[in-house]
Amino acid sequence: VADRVLDALRTPLQVNGREVSVGASLGIAFAEELPTAERGARGARRGEAGDGAAAADALLRNADLALYAAKGQGRFRHATYAPSMHAHALARLELEGELRVAVTALGAGDPAHGGFALAYQPIVDLDGEAGPGFEALLRWTPPGRPPVPPLQVVPVAEETGLIVPLGRWVLREACRQLAAWDAAGAAGGDGPLQVSVNVSGRQLQDPSLVADVEAALADAGVAPGRLVVEITESVMMHDAEATRARLMALKALGVRVAIDDFGTGYSSLAYLRQFPVDVLKIDKTFVDDVGRGGDESVLATAIVTLGRALALTTVAEGIEDAAQLARLRALGCARGQGHLFARPLAAADVPGWLDGWLARGGAPAEPARA
Ligand code: C2E
Ligand code: MG
Ligand code: MG
Repeated sequence: VADRVLDALRTPLQVNGREVSVGASLGIAFAEELPTAERGARGARRGEAGDGAAAADALLRNADLALYAAKGQGRFRHATYAPSMHAHALARLELEGELRVAVTALGAGDPAHGGFALAYQPIVDLDGEAGPGFEALLRWTPPGRPPVPPLQVVPVAEETGLIVPLGRWVLREACRQLAAWDAAGAAGGDGPLQVSVNVSGRQLQDPSLVADVEAALADAGVAPGRLVVEITESVMMHDAEATRARLMALKALGVRVAIDDFGTGYSSLAYLRQFPVDVLKIDKTFVDDVGRGGDESVLATAIVTLGRALALTTVAEGIEDAAQLARLRALGCARGQGHLFARPLAAADVPGWLDGWLARGGAPAEPARA
């Protein structure tokens, strides 16, 4: 029945001569699963609403939890309530609460930054010609708890809108750090250091983003050309017109734009020409296939070729071994990032890493073993 309902809703509707389509998700709960106390409605006579209302509430609450799970799987899905969904929802609510407190502390100028910090992962030139840049990656350690990985923090921050103030801090902190490295004389060879910052779809929708970026750069005294804004590919598809306009405004500031996780977001290739993009970051899933022999690297090869044809810089994400590096170099991929070169580093460790990198003449710390 759920599949039939979803199928029926999938059909676009005609409204005033325009085609309109809706997305739907279904959460399913069964009354039999309610504890007997909540099932009182069965025996209740008409007019005695008390127990019946409680049962209806519980049923709706369970269906709502199931709906939430269905939405988490994408559009046009259905999910059936399971008791474990309660624990999950509770943990998520707790995370959301803690995150809210931490972001508020951040805004209030907490010296511990609400437990937030940025780690910096080098993005290196595969031919060793240009100096490295760094991707700023969010780290969060709530008080008295182990660090919570960004893949848990970021989605909750996006859903709650907390990503807007949090992302604003990330931008400011990354620019401030860049200026601090400059002041400390940290250098990576040719040209000044660069920093890449991840910007989520929710931030792109925020009308103040461009002004925030401009202020972050100006307050730190950092030239706009040293900042790269990374946008995940799937975000471009969503509300393409608004995204394009905002990216154009960022470009007008002199900031560069990278498409993150390229190849995973089903984007139309036409967007690559319409959007003001400078950099394509090849998703790790494609890089994983590189250097394994056979034609498994065919997708990475295609993306590098596409990048070259469109005069974009290609960056391979998640390079872990020397065979991948050798193959990506041969393909003509310009830049790379991954554990082979360095894991994300604490800001204080970056100058030391740069010294080592320069001393090795731009080679990975571990000598390449073929
Ligand atoms: P991303 O932007 O694609 O960042 C690359 C991720 O790959 C990072 O994970 C990095 O630690 C990991 N990585 C790099 N090299 C390797 C490798 O050789 N092997 C493996 N296995 N992993 C590697 P991380 O730090 O956990 O971040 C995950 C994602 O969270 C990021 O993916 C990004 O989408 C999001 N994120 C992180 N910081 C921020 C932020 O400040 N704002 C927003 N909106 N999103 C962020
Ligand atoms: Mg990124
Ligand atoms: Mg990525």
